[in-house]
Amino acid sequence: MTSPPPKKIVERVNSLHELLEEYNYQYYVLDDPTVPDAEYDRLFRELQAFEKEFPELVTENSPSQRVGGQPLDAFTQVIHPIPMLSLNNAFDDEEFFAFNQRIKDRLKTTDAIEYICEPKLDGLAVSLLYEAGRFVQAATRGDGVTGENITQNIRTIAMIPLHLRGNDYPARLEVRGEVYMPKKGFAALNEKAQQKGEKQFANPRNAAAGSLRQLDSRVAAQRPLEIFCYGVGLVEPALNIDNHYSLLNQLARWGFRINKNIIVANKEGHCIDYYQKILQKRESLPYEIDGVVYKVNEFEKQKQLGFISRAPRWAIAYKFPAEEDISQVLDIEFQVGRTGAITPVARLEPTFVGGVTVSNATLHNMDEVLRKDVRIGDRVIIRRAGDVIPEIVSVIKEKRPQGSQKVTLPKTCPVCDSDVIKPENEAVARCIGGLYCSAQQKEKIIHFASRKAMDIDGLGNKLIEQLVDRKMISTMADLYQLKPTELANIERMGMKSADNLLAALEKSKSTTFAKFLYALGIREVGEATANSLAQHFGDLPPLLEASEAILLQIPDVGPVVAAHLAHFFKQPHNREVIDALIHLGIHWPKSIKRENLPLAGYTYVLTGTYDQMNRDQAKARLQALGAKVSSSVSKKTTAVIAGSQPGSKLPKAEALGVAIMDEKELNTLFEKFEI
Ligand code: NAD
Repeated sequence: MTSPPPKKIVERVNSLHELLEEYNYQYYVLDDPTVPDAEYDRLFRELQAFEKEFPELVTENSPSQRVGGQPLDAFTQVIHPIPMLSLNNAFDDEEFFAFNQRIKDRLKTTDAIEYICEPKLDGLAVSLLYEAGRFVQAATRGDGVTGENITQNIRTIAMIPLHLRGNDYPARLEVRGEVYMPKKGFAALNEKAQQKGEKQFANPRNAAAGSLRQLDSRVAAQRPLEIFCYGVGLVEPALNIDNHYSLLNQLARWGFRINKNIIVANKEGHCIDYYQKILQKRESLPYEIDGVVYKVNEFEKQKQLGFISRAPRWAIAYKFPAEEDISQVLDIEFQVGRTGAITPVARLEPTFVGGVTVSNATLHNMDEVLRKDVRIGDRVIIRRAGDVIPEIVSVIKEKRPQGSQKVTLPKTCPVCDSDVIKPENEAVARCIGGLYCSAQQKEKIIHFASRKAMDIDGLGNKLIEQLVDRKMISTMADLYQLKPTELANIERMGMKSADNLLAALEKSKSTTFAKFLYALGIREVGEATANSLAQHFGDLPPLLEASEAILLQIPDVGPVVAAHLAHFFKQPHNREVIDALIHLGIHWPKSIKRENLPLAGYTYVLTGTYDQMNRDQAKARLQALGAKVSSSVSKKTTAVIAGSQPGSKLPKAEALGVAIMDEKELNTLFEKFEI
């Protein structure tokens, strides 16, 4: 005789009943779970362990003995002639081998068992009834005995046959399968719901269940639902088929959709290989799966094995590691990205999820923090699917501790202390210490050195990263103070390359005002805006002094650009870097008023390749002299400047009688006017 269970255990079992019942209700009846499956499964297994130790604790109403949840009253009910059961779970290889051993023991055999291995689809089970080959009724699993009549909604799923193919089908055939929502369709549905400010579904399973349980079948018809069939219930008269694999093939012939990843395994080891193979494939499948299912193939053996309470003995679901679990937010910090974007990041109680330990999760931006209402101290559901960066799905509000702390966007950058701005219509907040903030240095310097900016030959991204990482430079101004001996010490960089780089740096000092402005990497200031600004102001001092109102008068400059410019030049750190650059010798031809420039009123079109400069350089030099450079030839074009291998612009110019110049003539033009 075993001793009765201690009071503490009885109490825990009672509270597990309550919790699991509540979670079942939220999940099956409301299609709106509040805890991740991993948490539910932990509690379920805790209950099973107590019930194994103290069998007297097993009651008829225990969640361990029951399938699913109560059917909704809103639908008429369907009694399943053969109950629709759930599946027992294995969570590791050992549990699978124990299952396999139990089967062998019951069948009194030492021979390997033949299993059918199937993906475990994450949707909801449905029963489809056909009479004389015609679809007549569909039902949900419900509590396993009674389901909901969802015939009208099922009719909207085009891939479900309304008439069976062939003519060898039985008079009554009940086919069972899983209706699911593909990943893409789910994402689109939730995005729409978010835009409309409506509630989003927690996952594709709940979305599929919620869609099938719509009272208005027009709503269900708009939901992207699909099905895979995997078995039968009532069949009259019985089929002349003796194994599950042949049955699946027969179902396919009658027109049912059967998953392509199903295999026969005649060794236990093959089952484990299958698990690994499907786990690898999981991310790339267009639908969610949460494990694999092994089923004894032979019907005779299935019959001998039978059922226990809520699941057959001849099948087991080997679940994949959960992609969602619960964690706690220990802190919320703000990180500065390469473009100055300030991203809130949650520091989490380390939690094993999606096969790795997760201790940080991105919160993307402040709007997201507010929308999800994430606070320090909160219990949250975190998700890590495949290689995707872990994220916080939602806060478990019922478990919010007292004293949980809200966070606000910092006013200054956590890295460089410059101002942080968040334009009203943008989600992302940014540090505007662009030239100074070490978090942004690499990106800024890469842009500064690029061809359309300062065009520093030989200064590639890799080298810039090395220079910043070795702390040899931190701003673009530091580039012009690099010493040849320091440079020569860098990996794969000899004295000759160092000299070449220094020569390129020296050459880049002579630039145009427009290129310099563009090179500063001010947000939203691209080439065209930089040109407009340069043409309007002619030089830096008047631009630095310009108010936002003055900036707004310039073509290409709207309120957003004007605000970015004003903020940028207001930052003392940015001004320091600009002063240093000019002090180190960066210069450009000073132009006065545009109309006073020597080539004002002339329009040129460039075509072909030039020997001594590229087209961007030619364009910048012409523009600095007041000329317009257009991309198409018209009668108003002053001249087409043709290099080698010119394009169609040359014949067009000839046809229109427009003047044609070569590179030599262009150089003569520059020599004449450039200071
Ligand atoms: P289950 O999903 O673990 O397994 C049984 C079901 O698997 C079947 O009914 C069928 O619908 C499905 N299935 C998918 N592919 C199949 C295939 N190839 N062959 C046969 N069946 C296949 O069991 P369940 O009873 O539907 O649900 C229990 C699970 O639901 C729990 O383990 C938990 O993860 C989750 N749950 C979560 C909450 C929550 O609050 N988060 C609450 C209740 C249940």
